[in-house]
Amino acid sequence: MRNTPDIKEFHRPKTVTEAIGLLSQQDNGTVLIAGGTDLLPRRQSGRTGVTKNKLVDISGLGLNYIRETQDAFLIGAATDINTLASSPVFKTSPYTAIIEAALAHSTLTLRNRATLGGNLCNASPHADLALPLLVLDAVLVMEGPHGQKTINLDNFFIGPHCTVLEPSEILTEIRIPRMPEKSGANFIKLTRQHTAIDMAVVNAATCLSIKNGICISARIALGSVGPHPFRAKKAEAFMENKTLVKNTLQTAALFQEAAGLAAKEASPIDDIRATAAYRKEMIPVLLQQSLGKSLERSLS
Ligand SMILES: Cc1cc2nc3c(=O)[nH]c(=O)nc-3n(C[C@H](O)[C@H](O)[C@H](O)COP(=O)(O)OP(=O)(O)OC[C@H]3O[C@@H](n4cnc5c(N)ncnc54)[C@H](O)[C@@H]3O)c2cc1C
Repeated sequence: MRNTPDIKEFHRPKTVTEAIGLLSQQDNGTVLIAGGTDLLPRRQSGRTGVTKNKLVDISGLGLNYIRETQDAFLIGAATDINTLASSPVFKTSPYTAIIEAALAHSTLTLRNRATLGGNLCNASPHADLALPLLVLDAVLVMEGPHGQKTINLDNFFIGPHCTVLEPSEILTEIRIPRMPEKSGANFIKLTRQHTAIDMAVVNAATCLSIKNGICISARIALGSVGPHPFRAKKAEAFMENKTLVKNTLQTAALFQEAAGLAAKEASPIDDIRATAAYRKEMIPVLLQQSLGKSLERSLS
């Protein structure tokens, strides 16, 4: 039995242009590799990607960085998950949700290889890092043979393991705009066995921005309960302009209603981790906790 991928060529380009040139070759056998923690197991199991035997490694393109500008945080797509987890720039609210998701991702060893870009481009329904980035309104920068373009993360996923990226395009940077003052966010993940390969049964993130006690913006994202991570926009709209006061019955009732609306926007399936019915029941439980944490953080 073959258990190693049949790799014919391995390229390590030094520039994004060179990498795009390699990916643009018309033979359909070339694929980009970042950390390889999705791509290599997928090849071994014979799923998508197994026919691609020319790998283009992007680790030499200088895409491993976290920078701050006046308006945004810029993260290179090849930044590994441990670097995100330990970054001091995300230690303040609401960006701490990124650290929470990074620490919930697999194990220390795997996180040293797994990249943020890989987590997004793999477009798994349970991709942990997608959730805080969805609620923080992240924008993706992509480069391809026709130049550079940007897209909101919210419009990036189109199906399980499917995004708007063309095969010759590279995700180069993730931009997170600075949120208004008094914003709080949270990431939460329900797993089955708490092992290294324990993907989420349900994962979620929320972000609330408060002004004078009123919710001026609400973001609610769900994973593992639809074809890809998504924002529950009806629940978000319900929360906006509501008066929110920490630890009150009225606010708890609002969170309960928003969480119920979000559950209706989900379309979970039965799989080896959980049934669709269990997932549907757990969505409101997780979201009420997460919204409570986000509110608490927005006020602190
Ligand atoms: C044991 C185990 C445990 C795991 N646990 C978790 C977990 O808890 N949570 C979780 O979310 N995931 C988990 N994963 C999945 C995986 O580790 C992550 O999705 C990881 O972040 C992928 O990053 P990577 O750099 O390894 O991607 P790769 O495997 O290198 O690439 C994945 C896909 O994205 C494409 N790609 C990568 N980077 C780019 C780019 N910059 N531009 C365009 N395309 C790109 C590749 O061509 C490939 O199709 C786990 C995987 C394993 C094997």
